[in-house]
Amino acid sequence: MSVCYKCGAAAAGACTNCGQFHCPAHGNKTAGDGVLTMARHGLCDACHADMGFKKGIAALIGVLAIGTILVIWFIANVLNKQ
Ligand SMILES: [Zn+2]
Ligand SMILES: [Zn+2]
Repeated sequence: MSVCYKCGAAAAGACTNCGQFHCPAHGNKTAGDGVLTMARHGLCDACHADMGFKKGIAALIGVLAIGTILVIWFIANVLNKQ
């Protein structure tokens, strides 16, 4: 029988990212995550934290990319009107 990687209790499932077993208390977080619930389903706590970090970086890059596009669009528009 498989046990939780953290506390040794009976495992409720295996992490979909790293494959280690986790109990309900140390993985598969679903409460209070809103729109991110689906993406985090089935992960152990370690991967859960890691995913959150990567999502933050991805969001930052996305905001910077959109900001850059808007600035270029704005500059192009201003130049076209002259
Ligand atoms: Zn546990
Ligand atoms: Zn994991």
